[in-house]
Amino acid sequence: MKIYNTLSRRKEEFIPIEEGKVRMYVCGPTVYNYIHIGNARPMIVFDTVRRYMEYKGYDVNYVSNFTDVDDKIIAKSIEEGVSAAEIAARYTKAAQDDMEGMNVMPATVHPKATEEIGGMIELIQTLIDKGFAYEKNGTVFYRTRKFKDYGKLSGKNLDDLEAGSRIAVDDEKEDAMDFVLWKPKKEGEPAWESPWGDGRPGWHIECSAMSNKYLGKTIDIHAGGEDLVFPHHENEVAQSEAANGVEFSRYWMHNAFLNINNHKMSKSAGNFFTVKDIAKKYPLQVLRFFMLSAHYRSPLNFSDDLMESAAKSLERICTAVFNLTHLASAAKDRDYDDGEKEYMEKIGALKDKFEAAMEDDFNTADAIAAIFEIVKLANSELSAESARHAVEETRILIIELCGILGIICEKDDEMPDEDIIKLIEERTNAKKERNFARADEIREELLAKGIQLEDTREGVRWKRV
Ligand code: AMP
Ligand code: ZN
Repeated sequence: MKIYNTLSRRKEEFIPIEEGKVRMYVCGPTVYNYIHIGNARPMIVFDTVRRYMEYKGYDVNYVSNFTDVDDKIIAKSIEEGVSAAEIAARYTKAAQDDMEGMNVMPATVHPKATEEIGGMIELIQTLIDKGFAYEKNGTVFYRTRKFKDYGKLSGKNLDDLEAGSRIAVDDEKEDAMDFVLWKPKKEGEPAWESPWGDGRPGWHIECSAMSNKYLGKTIDIHAGGEDLVFPHHENEVAQSEAANGVEFSRYWMHNAFLNINNHKMSKSAGNFFTVKDIAKKYPLQVLRFFMLSAHYRSPLNFSDDLMESAAKSLERICTAVFNLTHLASAAKDRDYDDGEKEYMEKIGALKDKFEAAMEDDFNTADAIAAIFEIVKLANSELSAESARHAVEETRILIIELCGILGIICEKDDEMPDEDIIKLIEERTNAKKERNFARADEIREELLAKGIQLEDTREGVRWKRV
């Protein structure tokens, strides 16, 4: 499995620290408002990475935080006249509902910053003890120049940054590039006790502390949107590696932006749609399918046309699954003939193609193309005359591959039981033998079991009533 590693700027073979296990941390949203579909991109993309790894047999420990204390949350709480905790709780719940709607699996742990302050204080203290941080009037700063590898993730250089920096060196900082680990309490703001007085943590320290606590000092994958590379992830590296003396994350994955008219979708620019806006127009799996139709490192432009086209494409796959479900009840109970053996080989090769695409840095666009090839082949080669096993295998495969992408085309229980299929078959035979009395009897019997039949030109169809 190859992963493009932001740290080395190339694709690398994925080798986990511990065989069969993946420790993965994905920076989560700041919960001060409903999440927009730009925020949804990393959620969907890295959930898909996780699903594929689980499909390959890895035991994935997936940690994703909620940033529930921050300037924007506090600003919103003042605006609404309610506590910051209330704002955070409201939008955490909303984000979780949106994630469920997009079929994003719950993380192994979803830590919240406000519940992890103790670990952050400990980490800051370690940095102070090791000379990587200093306190001035209740603020603790990270001593950026002391960390020799600063800039290795983003490829930035401290001198260039300093030269280009418009940040005036305030009296308290030793250096313009030093960043805040702990800030002192301001009137009316949430605050926690600390060795440096009451206050709250800076944003970057949060992820270093939580990753350390739940996944250990060195993890396999750290991920997020590409805007997080600098300064957030660069600062996380500086904090964690200075404190622990070991590599923080072996692989760094970053998704490109979701754009509108080629501009990054963002709350501050005002050019955003929330997941809830989209849910009014489309099932959220269309949004998920749309996101995965591009490689995660390619910018993706959002438009109604592209969403319509994603809806149509997804519909084609789901219709194929639906048709195969019905075809399975009409197909024949026999071994494969030569043509079917060949067909099954082609289907197997397309499954390999799907996997090869996913192994190549999670190329979901090509993986989806492989699913379409399966659909096309099935549509042209399978019929009511096919061996039932070929129909069933194809149906199960499409459902399985879609499932790896987090797309559900059919609920597992939709396929009728074996005895119902047998009855449908018996009725078809009875009709062929012009035994209409028996055919009607079976129709009634099935109806009593909640299965309604419909005779079509393609054969018999059933639906649950
Ligand atoms: P935030 O709540 O701003 O910290 O963002 C949460 C996650 O969404 C981070 O991983 C961001 O990088 C990501 N993100 C924000 N806007 C976009 C966008 N327009 N396209 C893709 N990812 C985004
Ligand atoms: Zn983070």
